[in-house]
Amino acid sequence: MDHFNYRDGVLFAEDVPLTTIAAAVGTPVYVYSRATLIRHARVFRDALSAVLPRMHLAYAMKANPNLSVLKVLASEGYGADIVSGGELERALAAGMPAGDVVFSGVGKDAGELARGVEVGIGQFNLESEEEGEELARIAASMGGRAVCALRVNPDVDAKTHAKISTGKSENKFGVAYDRAAGIYLRLSALEGLEMRGLAVHIGSQITDLDPSRQAFIKMGALMRDIRGQGLTVSHMDLGGGLGVPYKAGEELPGPEDYAAMVAQVTDGWDATIMFEPGRVIAGNSGVMMTRVIRVKQGATNTPFVVIDAAMNDLARPALYDAWHDFVAVEKTGERMSANIVGPICESTDTFAMARDIDAVKAGDLAAFRTAGAYGATMANTYNSRPLVPEVMVDGEKWAIVANRIEPATILAAETVPDWLD
Ligand SMILES: *Cc1c(COP(=O)(O)O)cnc(C)c1O
Repeated sequence: MDHFNYRDGVLFAEDVPLTTIAAAVGTPVYVYSRATLIRHARVFRDALSAVLPRMHLAYAMKANPNLSVLKVLASEGYGADIVSGGELERALAAGMPAGDVVFSGVGKDAGELARGVEVGIGQFNLESEEEGEELARIAASMGGRAVCALRVNPDVDAKTHAKISTGKSENKFGVAYDRAAGIYLRLSALEGLEMRGLAVHIGSQITDLDPSRQAFIKMGALMRDIRGQGLTVSHMDLGGGLGVPYKAGEELPGPEDYAAMVAQVTDGWDATIMFEPGRVIAGNSGVMMTRVIRVKQGATNTPFVVIDAAMNDLARPALYDAWHDFVAVEKTGERMSANIVGPICESTDTFAMARDIDAVKAGDLAAFRTAGAYGATMANTYNSRPLVPEVMVDGEKWAIVANRIEPATILAAETVPDWLD
């Protein structure tokens, strides 16, 4: 459920017609609904808190790191799962306590590790023994102890798109399941570390709960094994990954189904259960609005609807063959079949082929739905296009929460050495 609905044929974000935002800000533009964000944050939190005695929620901010989005989630009690030093500064800027932040990622460098220790990161999710040794040295030299979990690769196929699958043995993430207990033991002996838990994250846009169940069962067995050797495992981080429906009418397991599965698997664990949801919180909370530049006849009967948004603004279709519903902002009731493409000079700059859509013509506004996660955050300026702006709506209020960055600003950051002149 979201707060993007039609009133008299016009698509609104909460109480604001998208036509108003397009007139004021231009297109393409991302539009987020605060009420939808809050709703998803609460549905996920309430489903899990109803069945788990102790838990911690760390929003995976790479899904949508906009500062205003983070502010909303911080006010709902979410910490953050971060994967870079840049994301750490965002979490702090949003007012999230450092102690509520989980630091994931295979390539945290020495500077990022030191900054994490300095601000008192709640938990480093170590992705290798080497990283643990480096963090131990850094923390000890700073006179501190870094609180850590060990990320384990459970070698489970998440049955999602290959490019967003992270829990198979050939993926770069985590340590091999069979080596994990030994590594945990060795890292526990290091002075600069406080090993307190295990972490797992098998992929994104997961629509079948069974692979997650298999992974969590394996993690439970590993937890018991490590505890059996006299060590503490007080925190179990089960990652993120729960999928969202991208097609109208699609039925997927939701937070309550997920919570029921988690409750069943973790029964008797006696641990704080941690989660890192990203997409399920932000996905439905945003749309990307665009304007049709022209409708072009091609060699076949299916016309090309050329829009002013491109793969640099919304990369998921080009990257993962992802589907986003495409709707007219002002519905006429007419339909057409079309290929939806952007202006970029790449054939992969294609949002849909031979799609049945609301009829649109040059100048019309349209929106890609479920664009709140992995949308603006992946935007870039390829083809010297502007960086897409972001707007947040709250009831009748709305504001630009990230400016459009014009090509001139980017050009101004470039310099020509005098030996080229
Ligand atoms: C991306 C990521 C997540 C969030 O995944 P979603 O599918 O957006 O829920 C959680 N944890 C880690 C370590 C990640 O890399």
